[in-house]
Amino acid sequence: MALSKAAWSELGLTPRWQRRGIAAGANEAEAKTAAPEVRGDVPAVVPALHSALPSEMVTLDWSGLQAAVRQCTRCALHETRTQGVLGVGDLKADWLIIGEAPGADEDRLGEPFVGQAGKLLDAMLAGIGLKRGEGVYIANVLKSRPPGNRDPQPEEVAACAPYLERQIALIQPRIILALGRFAAQTLLLTETPIGRLRGKVHTYRGVPLVVTYHPAYLLRNPADKAKVWEDLRLAVRTMTAAGQAQ
Ligand code: URA
Repeated sequence: MALSKAAWSELGLTPRWQRRGIAAGANEAEAKTAAPEVRGDVPAVVPALHSALPSEMVTLDWSGLQAAVRQCTRCALHETRTQGVLGVGDLKADWLIIGEAPGADEDRLGEPFVGQAGKLLDAMLAGIGLKRGEGVYIANVLKSRPPGNRDPQPEEVAACAPYLERQIALIQPRIILALGRFAAQTLLLTETPIGRLRGKVHTYRGVPLVVTYHPAYLLRNPADKAKVWEDLRLAVRTMTAAGQAQ
């Protein structure tokens, strides 16, 4: 696939081609651990994601889901959020992009990834010929903003997971791109560091899942842009191979 450098370079993040097996720098888990707001790995209680959907959610269509998220009081985050943020994009997307949780901009505007990290995400997508809303759907594990952008808590993930599960069931994506440690570990039910999760193709309920660093992390750690570029190319190759196998 042709390399679209324009969008990346706009953000000062033009991918630099490097040989494979790039020297190990600080990975996301390490970098986040150094940040004061970050706690350790996702605890083992998180995995509501692979459980059965609550009966009232099994039949929800998109408008029902939107209304349910808007009115949701399943966890305490509803007390501090401005609004629930379900997701945005093509409801029959091949590509499902999953981040962590709405931040301040997303909480205000009601759409995932609309701040600085969102701009970079759009540039990442443009780099592989994709565009928000065109064959792409963007969602988060949590639909409500954790105050001060703190890490999501296990009970919040457990309460919110059915929404994401229902979204995945409705969209039936051909590939999932998990952005960052939190989304990756939550979807894959693992505490493995992101540095070991990226670079390979996992599956989520039969759907190929590729892990890469979160754009917010990449803004703070531009040295890892080449790894992100590798991950994106892996995702494209996975899609191409799946298309050829059909
Ligand atoms: N970070 C996320 O994980 N999701 C958003 O929607 C915005 C920032």
